[in-house]
Amino acid sequence: MNAETTARPISLFDMQAQQALIRAEMNTRIAHVLDSGAFVNGPEVREVEEKLAAFAGAKHAVGVSSGTDALQIAMMAENIGRGDAVFLPAFTYTATAEVPLVLGATPVFVDVAEDGFNIDIADLKRRIALVKAGGRLRPRAVVGVDLYGLPADWPAILEICREEGMFALDDAAQAFGGALDGRRLGVWGHATALSFYPTKTLGCYGDGGALLTDDADRAELYRSLRTHGEGKTRYEVQRTGMNGRLDTLQAAILLCKLPLMEQELASRARIAGWYAERLGNHVVVPRERAGAQSAWGLYTVLLPDAATRERVQGAMRERAVPSAIYYPKPLHHQPAYAAAHAAGIPGGPALSVSEALCGRVLSLPMHPYLDEGQVSTIAEALIAGL
Ligand SMILES: *Cc1c(COP(=O)(O)O)cnc(C)c1O
Repeated sequence: MNAETTARPISLFDMQAQQALIRAEMNTRIAHVLDSGAFVNGPEVREVEEKLAAFAGAKHAVGVSSGTDALQIAMMAENIGRGDAVFLPAFTYTATAEVPLVLGATPVFVDVAEDGFNIDIADLKRRIALVKAGGRLRPRAVVGVDLYGLPADWPAILEICREEGMFALDDAAQAFGGALDGRRLGVWGHATALSFYPTKTLGCYGDGGALLTDDADRAELYRSLRTHGEGKTRYEVQRTGMNGRLDTLQAAILLCKLPLMEQELASRARIAGWYAERLGNHVVVPRERAGAQSAWGLYTVLLPDAATRERVQGAMRERAVPSAIYYPKPLHHQPAYAAAHAAGIPGGPALSVSEALCGRVLSLPMHPYLDEGQVSTIAEALIAGL
């Protein structure tokens, strides 16, 4: 066989290369859970919670059933519901906006900054003022998203939340491992939601998530809410909760993967550097703000316009290089959210950066097991389409 046929195909995410490193340990851990029969609330759940908290430098971690449920449990704990405005970026994954609606609250979409893709602080202030002036909704929470792994401007978000008495929730589903001023995400918001969906920076083999917080009362509430609102005993129902637990099997898988995290984050950063070297003169490449360390969950470049993007994707496809668009449509244009958007700030200002980004972003393959040759192949394919 020649080099051509033995070369590893390039994939957007790669869970197989990592699995090969830990397969034996994983078999042992899974067999242990199978033998124990403790499929729910087994000791692995506690163990992974302790290790997650330590990794992030947070006081408490509570394992839950998904990133979406982490967001929901965090908002339920604040009693967020009817009449409450929850401010969140228009340019993010659908789950961020879905949760306030499920709870009867109103998502208020905020524009993002082109530089860094995260919530625009000036626009956030402006929309909070508009909601207050409207007098119909109470500003209750800001959900900052660390899109693609790049930390949002947490010091600024926290200052606004402190001034306004609002809850600051960090949706770090794409960013576990990222840091600001030397402190990892997990300590910045009043609570931080993580997703362990398989393609995230720390993924399990199914659905899973966690909440991180420094607040012991919140952590206790989260434990209750994930288990149907149970009180001190199993059969005392203290509040309305949900079934939002992390499975023992998924916790066991996370325990095998967590020790790889530091080296995987370093690999992601190295790969981002290779991309920037090769692409920085051709397209807009993502940059970390001073003091910010991306988790490089995704590597997303900006092309001049949608027509160029289509051409580039075609050129990449011809060379068997995958790419993806996260996200093609801003949330306020989604049929499910249009009515809520119109009700939040009737006739409010445009969300023009979010709208423009949807036509220009392109995410390239990003996982810790890409080698430099593959990055060159990807960059050459992209440049060929420009
Ligand atoms: C993946 C993701 C979620 C949801 O996580 P799930 O585990 O899939 O429920 C929420 N927010 C963002 C920004 C995400 O990328």
